[in-house]
Amino acid sequence: MTDFQTILDEIHHEIRPLLAQGAVADYIPRLASVPHEKFGMAVVTLDGQLYQTGAATEAFSVQSISKIYTLTLALQAIGDRLWQRVGREPSGNAFNSLVQLELENGLPRNPFINAGALVVADVVLAASAQPRTQLLTEIRRRADNHGLRDDPEVAISEKAHGFRNAALANFIRSFGNLDHPVEEVLDFYFYQCSLAMSCVDLARGFLFLANGGRCPWTGDTVLSADQAKRVNALMLTCGTYDAAGDFAYHVGMPAKSGVGGGIVGVIPNRLAVAVWSPALNAKGNSLAGSAALELFTTKTGMSIF
Ligand code: GLN
Repeated sequence: MTDFQTILDEIHHEIRPLLAQGAVADYIPRLASVPHEKFGMAVVTLDGQLYQTGAATEAFSVQSISKIYTLTLALQAIGDRLWQRVGREPSGNAFNSLVQLELENGLPRNPFINAGALVVADVVLAASAQPRTQLLTEIRRRADNHGLRDDPEVAISEKAHGFRNAALANFIRSFGNLDHPVEEVLDFYFYQCSLAMSCVDLARGFLFLANGGRCPWTGDTVLSADQAKRVNALMLTCGTYDAAGDFAYHVGMPAKSGVGGGIVGVIPNRLAVAVWSPALNAKGNSLAGSAALELFTTKTGMSIF
């Protein structure tokens, strides 16, 4: 049997030299004050065992990891019709890039770049009378933590500096691919990005994707097995932005990252693993977190390939 606890402790020890490298996201000023050297990691297996190391229960800003949950709500609401408004190809560009949108008539490449997430947010706004409550309730159930909440200071900080996202939303709306006012879409998007979760929350909160779309503790069918398989495929190809190829090469599992320094991955039918270290590499993924997940798949011998 795999000794996950020993492996996590080894990883924590081995990544220490990396904690001084990379840079905390400072384009959202509230995130710039998070200590650089934080590190946490958690694994939850399908049979409910939890393993953790470091600051695994400390909540941090999930940022783009929230895009998994809004995508889930959008798929629950409109299923495959979503793909008329957003694509499923890696973009090969930065997560907040504008360039492709003009060439591709306001149809974002995939749901995980910011442009795609704004369209998904628009779909959730149309489908729900109380989108914030619905999203929060969904995340609390999936993570089995009813104390989870957003961090309004992070949302305010991002809104005050969110010129690029505002540009993206306005541009998409000019092509008719947003139905709600830009301000409303941005407010919901900044809200989702400001949700705060720990590695333990995130590992628990992604376990439904390792379990054919079913939440192991509530028994809820969150997504059909077919949809869960496809969300995992999208995470593999687009979940770590324009580093997705390199991430698949080095780590070998579907994963979603955020500029708060979190990365969550799943090994279907086995486990979910979450890591947090705030300093990012040039592609906007946690530097030590990416290395920790590479060590994890190497030491456990687990990978989807
Ligand atoms: N809120 C961030 C943004 O829109 C999320 C980006 C990310 O986590 N990659 O820029």
